[in-house]
Amino acid sequence: MQDRVVIVTGGSRGIGRATALAAAARGYRVCIGYASNQAAADEVVAKIADSGGRAMAVQCDVGFETDIVGLFEAADGFGRLGALVNNAGIVGPTARVDEMSAERIQRMMAVNVTGSMLCAREAVKRMSTRHGGEGGVIVNLSSVAAKLGSPNTYVDYAASKGAIDSFTIGLGHEVAGEGIRVAAIRPGLIDTEIHASGGEPDRAHRLAHNVPMQRVGTAEEIANAVVWLISDEASYVTSAILDVSGGR
Ligand code: NAP
Repeated sequence: MQDRVVIVTGGSRGIGRATALAAAARGYRVCIGYASNQAAADEVVAKIADSGGRAMAVQCDVGFETDIVGLFEAADGFGRLGALVNNAGIVGPTARVDEMSAERIQRMMAVNVTGSMLCAREAVKRMSTRHGGEGGVIVNLSSVAAKLGSPNTYVDYAASKGAIDSFTIGLGHEVAGEGIRVAAIRPGLIDTEIHASGGEPDRAHRLAHNVPMQRVGTAEEIANAVVWLISDEASYVTSAILDVSGGR
């Protein structure tokens, strides 16, 4: 497995970046997708190369099927696919449902839900023994929001992560006999730039007192769980959803 390629969508920053670095440190070849921040993606690739690892970056907005197909085709030239980390995800500005536009909700679902499903489709085509593959792992990034619902903040985001939880269970059962394990992680409040993109850079720290462990989590703490799920140490884990949230 260690010589296999791991694709990490949204691997240029935050949890995806930490996951790419952690996977490379364990010997995987890493192919990261990024939406627009090429400089950040290049920095991740260079950091992995400096440590003796192998990585590549491909521009891929998971809101577009053509970008997704291009990402997987580029990765095909890099080696045999062993794992997909469906990490790319967006939030919207704080709003009630009665203030949300159709465009906002459609983009949320296109990126967080359809994008993850289409990436999984491409991964299954390559990894399933049904299609001549040798098996593999799919890890989906859900959120504790799927359980909390995120009222008065971003119910659309929470609902998109609820869809990811259902998708994880169903796809896991669908491909369990074909060498593919599927799992999801529900992060809690993690210190990344996603909160700034939602309009409140300090959100995680503001809410930290609500976390039973009384602190925010780091991207590396999520990445550690992802690389464990990818590894053979998690060989009997599928259709499973793991909270990595300090108890939140
Ligand atoms: P982040 O810091 O905002 O980083 C987002 C990453 O995804 C960047 O690499 C970005 O690429 C990429 N991206 C954004 N939109 C994309 C698109 N349409 N297509 C492809 N890539 C896209 O986010 P994060 O906090 O690391 O979150 C990663 C995942 O964890 C998400 O699914 C998120 O919902 C989930 N999560 C996060 C938290 C948290 O507290 N941080 C909690 C629960 C769940 P560019 O660099 O090119 O912009």
